[in-house]
Amino acid sequence: MSSYVLVINAGSSSLKYSLVDAESGDAAAAGVVERIGEAEGSHRHRGPRGETRSTLVIASHEEALQAAIEAFAVQGPALDEIELVAVGHRVVHGGSAFAEPTLVDDELLAKVAELVPLAPLHNPANLTGMRVARRLFPQLPQVAVFDTAFHQTLPPQAYTYAVPREWATEHGIRRYGFHGTSHAFVSGEAARMLGRSEVNLVVLHLGNGCSATAVRGGRSVDTSMGMTPLEGLVMGTRSGDLDPAIHAHLSRELGWPLDKIDHALNFDSGLKGLAGYNDFRELSRSRAAGDERAQLAFDVFCYRIKKYVGAYYAALGTVDAIVFTAGVGENDPAARAASLAGLERLGIRVDPALNAASSDRPRAISTDASPVAVLVIPTNEEWQIARETVSAIRSRPPRV
Ligand code: ADP
Repeated sequence: MSSYVLVINAGSSSLKYSLVDAESGDAAAAGVVERIGEAEGSHRHRGPRGETRSTLVIASHEEALQAAIEAFAVQGPALDEIELVAVGHRVVHGGSAFAEPTLVDDELLAKVAELVPLAPLHNPANLTGMRVARRLFPQLPQVAVFDTAFHQTLPPQAYTYAVPREWATEHGIRRYGFHGTSHAFVSGEAARMLGRSEVNLVVLHLGNGCSATAVRGGRSVDTSMGMTPLEGLVMGTRSGDLDPAIHAHLSRELGWPLDKIDHALNFDSGLKGLAGYNDFRELSRSRAAGDERAQLAFDVFCYRIKKYVGAYYAALGTVDAIVFTAGVGENDPAARAASLAGLERLGIRVDPALNAASSDRPRAISTDASPVAVLVIPTNEEWQIARETVSAIRSRPPRV
């Protein structure tokens, strides 16, 4: 019989969930509750007996999870008829405190609450999700899987910012990195595809949020997101890297408060700021229609990726594979080709026909002669959370 994990990703006004077979990765059911706390919310649930969509008032995350439990009863699978072994929670920021998936208890909740200043949008919602799930599933172990955990192996020279030392020691100002669950999943899959466990990779997670990670021997040794997810690559609405003096300049010239600048860099910048679209498909359509702003946004996006590939190649010394994942990385041949164009002297040779062929399977898109493999690997963060959840509950100390 399969062991299932209920994977929960709680946002500030949403709750995503899926019921994942930890061995096979199959999602037996999945759903999303949106606009929690607003005048009208929505709930979608897909299960073995079909899909339901409803519009209703959902006052709280507790009501959202209740609605999910009812949907499991109606659309299946009934939670009391399967082997549901645990609840796995996606938690965005684990700071320096969490390098592993960790059982949820009062101590963990207190530590995650202490980290709220580092992730003011995400950690409070993740805390709510864990508290609610503990109330509604008191009989099940709950495990927190942190987006930052995979990057806790970064060496000091990669995670240290060149700022006064007390900023780090007293305020936790350092690189943490994010998307760790995705980078861990695709790194494992890449190692399997290459037939080796000790692989050196540059992993490019290109979705709405984008990040690059240098992986040495399966472990993260550098990553482009920083203390927050704003640093690094150009993203759907985030600027990525920029001169930190721009904050002070805007504040002096326009009198903008820091919160307004922070908001603009997180929500009005990136592809959206440059071209008006944060959706890559719309950007591609505009680019094809000759829109120069869309072309510039695409060029800036791909050039930034290329710079990180070069930087991480230098950091690693040898690279076995470049790996593309997430919505853009898995589906956009033009972005992949442009990001790696001209890197033949680094041993990176993309095969145009393999790159252009669409598929939802893990695949190589490099030529047979390419010393560095170029791989496209669909990410599966829910499966990774389910697997890590099961490994955490199997390794917990026995109750006495
Ligand atoms: P996230 O999980 O960060 O919200 P995703 O990994 O789902 O993001 O990626 C979303 C991005 O992927 C969007 O910019 C979307 O336009 C892009 N995307 C999704 N499908 C395709 C496709 N077939 N071709 C090009 N881009 C795509």
